[in-house]
Amino acid sequence: MPSNRTRLIAGNWKMNNDVAGAAKLADELACALPEVPEGVEVVVCPPAVDLTTVNDRIQAAPIALGGQNVYWEASGAYTGETSCDMLKSAGATYCIIGHSERRDYFHETDEDVNRKAKALMAAGITPISCCGESLEVREAGKHVEFVVDQIKKDTEGLEIADPSKYVIAYEPIWAIGTGKTATADDAQEVCGAIRATLVDVFGAETAAGIRVLYGGSAKPGNIAGFLEKEDVDGALVGGASLKAADFAAMVEKA
Ligand code: PGA
Repeated sequence: MPSNRTRLIAGNWKMNNDVAGAAKLADELACALPEVPEGVEVVVCPPAVDLTTVNDRIQAAPIALGGQNVYWEASGAYTGETSCDMLKSAGATYCIIGHSERRDYFHETDEDVNRKAKALMAAGITPISCCGESLEVREAGKHVEFVVDQIKKDTEGLEIADPSKYVIAYEPIWAIGTGKTATADDAQEVCGAIRATLVDVFGAETAAGIRVLYGGSAKPGNIAGFLEKEDVDGALVGGASLKAADFAAMVEKA
């Protein structure tokens, strides 16, 4: 990665760990990562009910906190939802949006992802905006076109004053939780196309400062290959982020 972008290793705990389990994992992470390599940022994204617990446990460690989802309205009658200010008050400085699981199971659209990004950025929380194609789209050879279209919709009308405060994660759906990773070249092909789209949308200077992560069965044994690629600035890690030793090993390799 021959750029001056700060690398980002983000852990997506998904719907794992109750409060006690989250406290334990956060303690283990704080212990395993008393410091992180220079030029690397680390964030963990636990379930909403675990945010404050994890926040308390990682205070002394160089680990930031993120949510896994948000709703764009400020408050009110939206049963089951979490606002930007609620995330902020729990200590979150990042939030994942548009994860393929949310798109598939909860019908989140690109329009929703775009509104969530705008609300988060207005609240000073950095979105980690996910995109990625299904196996069907990949096999039809339309993956670049598909992801470029997602990026255009997800970024529509966004105003990015500080490019380090908007993050994209490319996660091919066929590689998530399957053990089947994209190759580093597959990741670069799409991450490069994402960067080119960002140049068109925001101009070269802003595009050069936006981090683009790879996600999908990333683990200690394969992360280095991804990070060698020009347009891959880090990883969004699911399964391997649930084991402190694995996640710490990935941070060390970043
Ligand atoms: P995985 O998940 O690392 O378990 O494939 C990644 C993600 O869905 O963010």
